[in-house]
Amino acid sequence: MKPVLVVGASVGGSIAACTLRALGVDVILLERDLNYIKPCGGAVPPLVFNEYDLPEDLIDRKVTTAVVASSRHMAEFPVASSHPSDRDFIAMVRREKFDRYIRQRAVDQGATLIEGKFIGMEISSQGVRATCEDKSRRAHVLEVSAVIGADGAYSAVAKALGLERLPMAVAYQERIHLPDDAMRYWETRAALYLGDEVSPDLYAWVFPKYDHVAAGIGAGAGKTQRARALLNNLKSRLKDQLGAGESILFEAHHLPMHPRKHLSYDRVALIGDAAGLVQATSGEGIYWAMKSGEMAARAIAAHIANPSAAALRRDYDAQWWKRYRPTYTFLQLLQRISYNGDIQREIFAAMCQDPDVQRLTFDSYLAKHIEPAPWSVQMKITGHWLSAAVRELIVARFGPPRRSAPQPE
Ligand SMILES: Cc1cc2nc3c(=O)[nH]c(=O)nc-3n(C[C@H](O)[C@H](O)[C@H](O)COP(=O)(O)OP(=O)(O)OC[C@H]3O[C@@H](n4cnc5c(N)ncnc54)[C@H](O)[C@@H]3O)c2cc1C
Repeated sequence: MKPVLVVGASVGGSIAACTLRALGVDVILLERDLNYIKPCGGAVPPLVFNEYDLPEDLIDRKVTTAVVASSRHMAEFPVASSHPSDRDFIAMVRREKFDRYIRQRAVDQGATLIEGKFIGMEISSQGVRATCEDKSRRAHVLEVSAVIGADGAYSAVAKALGLERLPMAVAYQERIHLPDDAMRYWETRAALYLGDEVSPDLYAWVFPKYDHVAAGIGAGAGKTQRARALLNNLKSRLKDQLGAGESILFEAHHLPMHPRKHLSYDRVALIGDAAGLVQATSGEGIYWAMKSGEMAARAIAAHIANPSAAALRRDYDAQWWKRYRPTYTFLQLLQRISYNGDIQREIFAAMCQDPDVQRLTFDSYLAKHIEPAPWSVQMKITGHWLSAAVRELIVARFGPPRRSAPQPE
């Protein structure tokens, strides 16, 4: 049996490779640049460590306090689910460490890791002839049974299938080294900032790493040129918390803003960012890349003799959407009603002060599963949302001008 080619040895590709190896399938793991560090905030739910048996020393910080701040509201609340446990935290990782660990595991389990760039492929009923280039731009042909496109937002595998680029947002991030006393504030805290001046249609963030923080902004289509200015606005808004810091790295990358119509094609499956599986509301993509890598690998292994589009769509696409459609639909809706304008963002930040909203947020984030809340809670939240909406409309019409640095309420 010919091996399966996994293009991209980041989180999604490496988990796909590990899954294939565990199922006895030969794997070639192709990575364009083994020194590449994926620009990323590095926030992951702790269930990643349980599901993929990862050591907790990959975690830089355990965030137990979340901050959501708009121009007028600031909510600070514990990372706590409905069933409190010692897994109620957000794990902060550095991709330079996290990705390398998982990639090395794939190699230890028998994947053949090659440094090279995927260029194109010819698909036939016999298999796939994939072309890649090594560092000295020499072309090589790999004869494989199937391909997993784990090559991120600018996926060359998707392009080789003739698929269009997905709508993208850009995320721009600065890593800032802070003196110990300034770092203390961020040790167990992660913050999201809302407002036109820091992120017109997404949000800005500060996430803690072991001796520095990652401060970033998201900007949707048409606003990417403003990314640098938006980040500077965030830094001036947080001059008390970040002002003493020293910049150590700037990173930027695109994020796909919605999933592809199909994840599978004849002998090819797309996963993670290549498939557009990032959550548009939060920009969260690490868990989804790993999970889709695992599920696509299982489907390919089950049909290794003939991984047709029909078989893969039945065992990967359909299974994926059966499990996660409610999560994607809910979060897309949340993005539309929460980030789409200053008033919506103020309502969203005000709603984050509601303990039911806080609990439901962390129930779904930590468990990666959305359970409808009891009717009584839904009614309470709706009532709260309506009163927040009326209040914000009145303030927008008659209230004082917006402050830029809200204090905790
Ligand atoms: C600034 C920023 C902050 C983010 N913060 C978070 C966060 O806090 N939490 C979270 O969950 N998600 C976050 N995300 C999203 C997350 O980074 C991605 O969703 C995730 O990395 C997707 O994983 P992937 O395996 O699909 O692809 P990627 O991680 O993008 O990896 C693709 C891999 O393919 C390789 N590759 C590309 N082209 C080729 C080719 N032609 N041949 C061979 N190899 C190739 C690349 O070198 C790379 O290693 C953030 C994204 C950005 C940009």
